[in-house]
Amino acid sequence: MTRSIPHFINGKTVEGKSGRFGDVFNPATGEVQAKVALATRAELGEAAAAAAAAFPRWSATPPLTRARILFRFKQLMEERIDEVTKIVTSEHGKVLSDAKGSIIRGLEVVEFACGIPQMLKGEFSENVGTNVDSWAVRQALGVVAGITPFNFPAMVPMWMFPVALACGNTFILKPSERDPSTSIFMAQLLKEAGLPDGVLNVVNGDKEAVDAILEHPEIQAVSFVGSTPIAEYIYHTGAAHNKRVQALGGAKNHMVVMPDADLGQTVDALMGAGYGSAGERCMAVSVAVAVGKVADPLIEKLAPRVSALKVAPGTDPEAEMGPLVTKQHLDKVRGYVDSGVAEGAKLVVDGRGLKLQGYEKGFFLGGCLFDHVKPAMKIYKEEIFGPVLSVVRVPDYDSAVKLVNEHEYGNGTAIFTRDGDAAREFASKIKVGMVGINVPIPVPMAFHSFGGWKRSLFGDHHMHGPEGVRFYTRLKTVTSRWPTGIRAGAEFVMPTMR
Ligand code: NAD
Repeated sequence: MTRSIPHFINGKTVEGKSGRFGDVFNPATGEVQAKVALATRAELGEAAAAAAAAFPRWSATPPLTRARILFRFKQLMEERIDEVTKIVTSEHGKVLSDAKGSIIRGLEVVEFACGIPQMLKGEFSENVGTNVDSWAVRQALGVVAGITPFNFPAMVPMWMFPVALACGNTFILKPSERDPSTSIFMAQLLKEAGLPDGVLNVVNGDKEAVDAILEHPEIQAVSFVGSTPIAEYIYHTGAAHNKRVQALGGAKNHMVVMPDADLGQTVDALMGAGYGSAGERCMAVSVAVAVGKVADPLIEKLAPRVSALKVAPGTDPEAEMGPLVTKQHLDKVRGYVDSGVAEGAKLVVDGRGLKLQGYEKGFFLGGCLFDHVKPAMKIYKEEIFGPVLSVVRVPDYDSAVKLVNEHEYGNGTAIFTRDGDAAREFASKIKVGMVGINVPIPVPMAFHSFGGWKRSLFGDHHMHGPEGVRFYTRLKTVTSRWPTGIRAGAEFVMPTMR
């Protein structure tokens, strides 16, 4: 019988009651390895009730005590990291070393959240009027929710819940239905670390569960990471229900290669950033913008490397790239490659013919490399989210910047150059949220904040770091005086600072 993946509500795993299930595949073999329960509105309601009941006590727990539970969680995750890594790879397909790296990046946010007492200190002004003091504190919002994508089943939830919990909120996580097991595993470890029941709940599901989150009156704020059309929907629907929303969307990250760039380093960077995790990263480089005469030597060096990519099941220690997440996604990515060819781009490396012996039903696609891609083409305009790198040739730096700035997405970008002036100008003027200078994937560290511009983010706050703390707290400003400072009689005019 196929294994079923439950919910985690009020400190316990709970079997789904809807009778609806989603398939969870092993992307390397193409087999259905489990069925995940898809929640009803009522099941989401049970999680919201548990989270609401847990909130008064959790928010009144001293920040240091909350942080200590997260310290313990981090320790447990580290002790069992190989197990978590295997779960990520078995459902997502990415190679083990990459899966492990992503878990470590997530745990860095836990480390940041462990220092939360420092972030919650607030501000104090003595004597704002005679014998009057004023201070501001940031307090927890209440029940908050996170809706996460398939591509980082450990890291993206960890962008959210450690900060939310450390700030005193209770949390409902709705992970991707493609790879939900990591979230259940983390919820169980949080319980083992001492997290009280109801403080973190995992509700598995699809649109029905998401809509129930967006409309539930108890839920104060929603964090979302996923594709742009859904991010936009989450932002508008959440706001229409008076919720605070941060919704991070898709990307089309350009790497500008200047003629003076170190070509060896640039090619290494493009290989890792373009094909790592089979291109299923929101910070993957999917467009290389070759400036001037660099285009020919760049293609010459890149093509053999792309052809030689070692594609294999994620569990193979030699693998550089695993399969795509589902057959449906594989077909979509292939469709983009077909469309690029039909629109006249030059397919320098064609990975569509790849077959792996023993894994014929796996969702594999070899690395693909396009040259002479034009801005009007579908493969340039849309996010492909697969191992497909497009090279666009431009005559000069200004045309490269124009291209980046005019794209609807603005998640990440990078420039490869030895010219400090060009790099400084690029960092200052480019209309993108995260910028790398000779760094292909400029993912901010946990104590900075992660987020894009334009249609890559809807809402005001980036994730984790100081922005995450602001998102999960609201400001309260207190003005106080004691009897010696109170003058006799009522005052009917605006107070002036006497
Ligand atoms: P997705 O938008 O399909 O799904 C994300 C979440 O939304 C899932 O939990 C899913 O169940 C839910 N969802 C899907 N369709 C829905 C609908 N119609 N109504 C309500 N909820 C719905 O994204 P995905 O395929 O899981 O992930 C890949 C996408 O995520 C890519 O576009 C990638 O760029 C993006 N992403 C962005 C970032 C970032 O930081 N900006 C990070 C990681 C991934």
